[in-house]
Amino acid sequence: MSIKENLLKIKSSLPENVTLVAVSKTKPVADLMEAYNAGQRIFGENKIQEMTEKWEQMPKDIQWQMIGHIQTNKVKFMTPYVSLIHGVDSLKLLEEINKQALKNNRIIDCLLQIHIAEEETKFGLNEEELKDLLASETFKNLNNIKIIGLMGMATFTENQDQIRKEFEHLKSIFDTIKSLSIVNCQLSILSMGMSGDYPLAILCGSTMVRIGSSIFGGRSPLTPEGGNS
Ligand SMILES: *Cc1c(COP(=O)(O)O)cnc(C)c1O
Repeated sequence: MSIKENLLKIKSSLPENVTLVAVSKTKPVADLMEAYNAGQRIFGENKIQEMTEKWEQMPKDIQWQMIGHIQTNKVKFMTPYVSLIHGVDSLKLLEEINKQALKNNRIIDCLLQIHIAEEETKFGLNEEELKDLLASETFKNLNNIKIIGLMGMATFTENQDQIRKEFEHLKSIFDTIKSLSIVNCQLSILSMGMSGDYPLAILCGSTMVRIGSSIFGGRSPLTPEGGNS
């Protein structure tokens, strides 16, 4: 099937309240344009430099979302245009995003990444670190960022029960934090679910799925991914 067919099929299967992020990392602009021409306007990338190159080349009505792990010193390259940053997992990073957002006269939407998987390698905050971050004075004074949701990745496993438990755990943290009243933290987005697990994620309350290979085809195993952005 073509990229367009994949995209339209997935889109038609999603409930109305679930947003599709087309994860286009490692794929050439021509592939992204095929999705664009089929109506897709939200793209997710995991490397800041690659995302910036694509932003420069592509139509300006695209929303670019950073889904990868972020190095503080590269934040400045995306702050002029990024529409949502998924993988925020420290106060230090938030302070840098806030600083760069201020320079660009913007308020940048962010998701906090929560560690729900068993693997050590997946980034993110645990529940206690999340609560500490939100309760800190430093956080309350960040006026140029807004936390609008949470993001998480389940363990890479065939065990559906385990994946479901991890998604349910994230949903329960989401519900807890959503009920708090914090000026710059008002949750509406729960970003969970990828090609292999998005139907389950949606059953568990996801409102945003990040889908790559099911739209664009597999990525070369030789291409590094999931590393630092
Ligand atoms: C690559 C990636 C995805 C998409 O993965 P697929 O399995 O290709 O759908 C989703 N989220 C993050 C954080 C990723 O790095």
